[in-house]
Amino acid sequence: MEVYLDNSATTRVYDEVAALMSKIMLEDYGNPSSLHNMGVRAEKHIREASEILAGTLRVKEKELIYTSCGTESDNIALIGSYMANKRAGRHMISTKIEHPAVKEPLKILKEAGAEVTLLDTDSHGCVSTGDLEKAIRKDTILVSVMHTNNETGALQPIEEIGALLKKQDHRILFHVDAVQGYGKAHIYPKRMGIDLLSVSAHKIHGPKGVGLLYADESVKLKPVIFGGGQQKGMRSGTENVPGIAGMAKAAEIIYGNIDAKLDKLYELKSYFTGELKGFKELLSINGEKENVRETAPHIISASFDGIRAEVLLHALEEKGIYVSSGSACSSNKPSLSETLMAMGAGKDRLDSTIRFSMSFDTTKEEIDYTLSALGELLPLLSRYRIK
Ligand code: PLP
Repeated sequence: MEVYLDNSATTRVYDEVAALMSKIMLEDYGNPSSLHNMGVRAEKHIREASEILAGTLRVKEKELIYTSCGTESDNIALIGSYMANKRAGRHMISTKIEHPAVKEPLKILKEAGAEVTLLDTDSHGCVSTGDLEKAIRKDTILVSVMHTNNETGALQPIEEIGALLKKQDHRILFHVDAVQGYGKAHIYPKRMGIDLLSVSAHKIHGPKGVGLLYADESVKLKPVIFGGGQQKGMRSGTENVPGIAGMAKAAEIIYGNIDAKLDKLYELKSYFTGELKGFKELLSINGEKENVRETAPHIISASFDGIRAEVLLHALEEKGIYVSSGSACSSNKPSLSETLMAMGAGKDRLDSTIRFSMSFDTTKEEIDYTLSALGELLPLLSRYRIK
């Protein structure tokens, strides 16, 4: 049996997505900027995709910018808004648990003169709006907080933050990295006070190499990629037509009947975590909450005391079970998790954390198979525990 529990790293492309993309690549392969019929057909795919994607977020189609990935969306959101708004102020606020796609551009902006405050989290991996309120200054121009943490599944208080920022006397843009949240939650930027939102197709059973940045029409943003002026100059480069259409098809499928799918996934998560507790001498679950609905439906971060994550990962792999250690979606270099450190985890826990991430297609049989593999492996591996 093969069990893929690494859906936060990437997902299997839905069959309908692959079929649509293949059709576009083979038949409707025109450049959407071309004036002839082939161009018009390609452009129509983008228009149809925008209608679907804007519909899932309840925003206007013209507020969508297509990018090459979630990382690019985050970069445009941060660098583009800094460049456009730095006269109003140079202070930006984010958190210690952001993905490198947010942290790294913030480091670059710091070198370019920005002042950056990174908020801590509580032991569940959540930032507090109280801390955020204290960090706001007269020259704060942007706050960037992720929707769902990619390592622990901790949900951040996005609506509360949106409301807090809207109450300030000066405009503070609110960017949300929703790469792990989109497709697993209802996210409505206009209602939640979100000005900029990043999405990535490959996390929702769409293709790799395509993403989306929602930017409210009132946001001042400068491009970071220059060229032929596509997408009203906001992101030059020929649009990835099959990718954009594939992302929209994936979004349409994932948001279809989503409430029932979420109920089932939360039930599966509760079952999985409940059964994992059988390994209680070894196990800690990071970011767990009494109410599972206050966490992401698909991510479980589990530390097995004294058992090196990489050893367990490869032992599970031999049984056909694929998981991640820490946040392997960002890099294959082992590095200590800044997210777990922000939550106060000690070095032992950092070395022994496995992330299981499910999709709406994960079955109870797959979870039972994983639990029985852990039941075999953990007693063996715990004999060689590092202490
Ligand atoms: N932000 C978060 C929270 C992520 O989990 C990831 C990828 O894992 C990214 C951004 C980067 O997305 P992409 O792989 O599309 O560049």
